[in-house]
Amino acid sequence: MQNASSELAVVRVRHPLKLRLLRVSRVQPVTPHLLRIVLGGEDLADFVSASFDDHVKVLFPAPGQDRPTMPTLGPAGFVYADEAARPVMRDFTPRRFDPAARELELEFALHEAGPASDWARQAQVGHYLGIGGPRGSRVVAAGFAWHLLIGDDTALPAIARRLQELPATARAIAVLEVEDPGARIDFVTAAALQTHWCYRTGADPSADPPLLRAVRELQWPLDGDAGYAWAAGESGAIRAVRQHLLSERGIDKSRLHAAGYWKRGAQGAHEPLDD
Ligand SMILES: Cc1cc2nc3c(=O)[nH]c(=O)nc-3n(C[C@H](O)[C@H](O)[C@H](O)COP(=O)(O)OP(=O)(O)OC[C@H]3O[C@@H](n4cnc5c(N)ncnc54)[C@H](O)[C@@H]3O)c2cc1C
Repeated sequence: MQNASSELAVVRVRHPLKLRLLRVSRVQPVTPHLLRIVLGGEDLADFVSASFDDHVKVLFPAPGQDRPTMPTLGPAGFVYADEAARPVMRDFTPRRFDPAARELELEFALHEAGPASDWARQAQVGHYLGIGGPRGSRVVAAGFAWHLLIGDDTALPAIARRLQELPATARAIAVLEVEDPGARIDFVTAAALQTHWCYRTGADPSADPPLLRAVRELQWPLDGDAGYAWAAGESGAIRAVRQHLLSERGIDKSRLHAAGYWKRGAQGAHEPLDD
């Protein structure tokens, strides 16, 4: 039986690094801005994803290729026979894994242009993708008194997965920024959930990001010691959200994880913001 302190732990788990070549088995629009890609293949036989904010490196085929050039694994990670053929790689969240069906779901937030978003838009059954990892997981206990989940479209897969995994005893508050009301998704959860949606459409581009404003406006009946806050999305916005949570809301650094999942003007950016 766990004691009270282990119930409130964040445990790091390492997984052996593996590369897998997978095939698209379904393409399902979730909203006009979010596309679910279901991947299958025998390579998924020993796939493990222990935490809602795990990520896999997705390896994309180059234009004209039907499958990505897969590296091999060396002691220091991926090894490429031909550096020039190094595939484009981006990070994505394992939204759902079904070990019996050997199916892995990824959800792509569609944006103006980028190799990952462009690939997803044209994806069809039978297309190939590579994945590497997850290499490790941060398993955040479900026993915290409250779970504050903050993010934009790129964090929706992690937040939806977390909410789906929380027990009925949990209390969750989700603050979410998307393009417009048509980009909202329904969450499936047993937890007591309060959602706060905010939108980029109609927002003043010279003002603070809608997500930061929504977090600032949040009524705060939360006891600072007892909960866990998690935030991911555009790096600049999340950095400001994190600073607000630490300095204005008194959240302890050990009870907060924040990450830049993308960065305005940069390609394939991943910025863990914890210090
Ligand atoms: C741990 C982790 C997990 C992630 N999980 C997911 C996930 O499950 N689903 C998901 O959709 N994304 C997820 N992301 C974010 C995703 O990796 C980035 O959005 C990535 O940059 C998309 O690659 P791209 O090739 O489409 O664009 P890039 O080539 O990386 O970027 C091209 C241009 O598009 C901009 N851009 C990138 N992403 C966005 C965006 N979402 N909205 C607006 N502009 C953008 C960049 O600033 C750049 O100017 C995750 C990131 C991390 C670090």
